[in-house]
This record gives sequence, structure tokens and C-alpha cells, in this order.
Amino acid sequence: MKSFEYQQPASVEKALEFAAEGSRIKAGGTDLLGLMKNEIESPGTIVNLSGIEELKRIEERPNRGFSIGALASLADVTAHSGIRKRFPLLAQAAGSAASPQIRNVGTMGGNLCQRPRCWYFRGDFDCLRKGGDTCFAVDGKNKFHCVVGGSPCYIVHPSDTAVALLALNATLLIRDSKGQRPVPISQFFVLPEKDVTRETILKQGEILTAIQVPGPPPGNRSVFLKTSERGVFDFATLSVAIQADVRGNVFHSARVVLGGVAPIPWFEKNVSEALNGIALSNETAIRKASDQALKDAEPLEENGFKIKLARNLVYQAIMKLL
Ligand SMILES: Cc1cc2nc3c(=O)[nH]c(=O)nc-3n(C[C@H](O)[C@H](O)[C@H](O)COP(=O)(O)OP(=O)(O)OC[C@H]3O[C@@H](n4cnc5c(N)ncnc54)[C@H](O)[C@@H]3O)c2cc1C
Ligand code: SF4
Repeated sequence: MKSFEYQQPASVEKALEFAAEGSRIKAGGTDLLGLMKNEIESPGTIVNLSGIEELKRIEERPNRGFSIGALASLADVTAHSGIRKRFPLLAQAAGSAASPQIRNVGTMGGNLCQRPRCWYFRGDFDCLRKGGDTCFAVDGKNKFHCVVGGSPCYIVHPSDTAVALLALNATLLIRDSKGQRPVPISQFFVLPEKDVTRETILKQGEILTAIQVPGPPPGNRSVFLKTSERGVFDFATLSVAIQADVRGNVFHSARVVLGGVAPIPWFEKNVSEALNGIALSNETAIRKASDQALKDAEPLEENGFKIKLARNLVYQAIMKLL
């Protein structure tokens, strides 16, 4: 690891002063330090946010939603009684990420901004995402890569909470030296076709300060399900988050999002629309709606299994809403 300067500001204003070219924000450090050890990132300065208390708060908002500070830990979100009650999918997603030790240190902001886990990217390969001219996954080992939205880089987005937060239609608050701006989470992540070297719209000198979850709909029901190669302590092979408004046992609306299939959390427009007006008891129609998932998928050699897995996981998740 290369040597670096270290700053531990006590306010966001001070952090913004240090967050100049060549610096990197550190929250829990569970991803950043690995990237530095592998020399994928070699910042001249680390700006450690962990002393900024205001960024750790989780507050209920007047609309019955929540404002979650970017420095709130995954463990805090998992254990928060209000979030567990009103938005169980978010508590389930945060609680399914990594191990208890990492959840105690890893933060919500860091979870959304973590870098991909593609083994070529993390290894000693000068691939497209690192400024090279080849994606080694195309003809390489690609069982865990994406099946949709990939070209020219086939990563999957690693964050579990991002999948739940997109289902919840959350808004992210971003600060820079000029002020704060809200960004819908649907506009936060970047597809490789737009810019293959970045995963989010965050620019140097910008800090994610909070996540705002809107109030629940009248017929609020939600679920998060994840499947991974190992039973514990593993990234999602596939995940699904559903936030639904169910009235009189009929889907009034639903937001279905998949993880582990695309370089960004993947909003399943087809399934979400197909569920509208379906009765929760109509298993045939629910099966048909679930089979709309990943209609435009173009799998690589080893990951075609994700399409059937996604359709079955969506069906299972909807059944859980019952
Ligand atoms: C063994 C292992 C297993 C894991 N399994 C899972 C899993 O199953 N599911 C899952 O979702 N995740 C998993 N993770 C990832 C883990 O959840 C993340 O490492 C963690 O959430 C990152 O949070 P952090 O606070 O430590 O981020 P850091 O490491 O501090 O930062 C990560 C990145 O985000 C940037 N950043 C952090 N906070 C901000 C901010 N507020 N504003 C702007 N930029 C910021 C940093 O500059 C850095 O680039 C796993 C990690 C490990 C090591
Ligand atoms: S999938 Fe993306 S990160 Fe992985 S080797 Fe290809 S270009 Fe690199």
C-alpha cells in the first residue's frame, strides 16, 4: 500500500475542504482499504468521515419515511425498530450484507458507493474499468457477471441495500462546496455504456450525506430475498426487493427490483407493471408476471442460469408478501 495523508474532520464543511483532487472519502473503510491494498486505489489523502456525528443519525420524517445518515452502519439499520416495522425489506437487505463484523463497521453510504467485485477488476488485470482496453469477463470466468445492461463491462452491482432502496424509490442527498442537492436513487448509478470507469454519478469533492426513504403507501407490503453461492457471508448471486401497495388483496402498484443481474440495481418494469390489478390469491397470474423478469437478458457463456433463478426468486418473493 502506498503512503497517504490522513484527515479526520469533525464536520461536513471541513471534510469538503479536504476532499480535493487525489483524496478519497473513508467511511467504515471495509471496501476502501481492500482497494488500497490491491493498489486499485492509491489516494494521496484519506478523509475519514467517521468523526462526523450528524451523518450517523436515523430520523423519522413527518411523512412517516426516514432520513438515514450516510454514516449509519448496516447494523444500525438492520436493528432499527421503525425501519424493521415500516420498511422490512431495507432491514432485511442491510442484515443480509456481509458478516456481523462488517455490518458493525460498514456504512449505508459506503455500501452504495462500494466498487465492483469482478475478480478481474480486483485482481491484477488491466481491464476496461481500470483504463485498459479489454473486458476479461467476456471470454473468461463469467458465472457471477451480469446478464443485462452490461456491454462493454459486465459487472454486477454488489450492494444489497441499493436494491431495496431503489424499490423504495429513495432520494440521496449529495453535498459539495456549493451546497446540497437531492438525487433520485434511480439516477445515482451509472451504466458502463455511459462511463465504464465509474459506478455512481458522485464527482471528486462530493459527499453522500443522507438517504431519504419516502413514507409508505397505504397498503404497504415489502420483502427482500437474496440467494448466494455460500449460505452465509457472501455477495448476492441474485436478489429481489419488492415494495407493493396492496389494497383489498389486489396489487394497486408494485416496484420490483433485481440485484446480481446488472451493473446497477435493476428496476423490473415489466414485472412491476404486470402485477398491477392482480389479486394476491391468483397464483397463475403471479407466475405469469414473474416470468416477465429479464425478458431482454443476453447472458454470457456461464450465467444463463440467472434468468430462471430470477423468475423463480421473484415468484417466491411475491408469495412471501402473502
Ligand atoms: C468479505 C465481505 C463480504 C461482503 N458481502 C457483502 C454483501 O453480501 N452485500 C453487500 O451489499 N455488501 C457486501 N460487502 C461490502 C460491504 O458491505 C461494504 O464494504 C461496506 O458496506 C462499505 O461500507 P464502508 O462504510 O466500509 O465503506 P468504505 O470502504 O469506507 O467506502 C467504500 C467506497 O465508498 C466511498 N464512500 C463511502 N462513504 C461515502 C460517502 N458518504 N460519500 C461519498 N463516498 C463515500 C469511499 O470513498 C469508497 O470508495 C462485503 C464486504 C466484504 C469485505
Ligand atoms: S466485467 Fe468490467 S470490471 Fe470485470 S473485467 Fe470486464 S471490464 Fe473489468
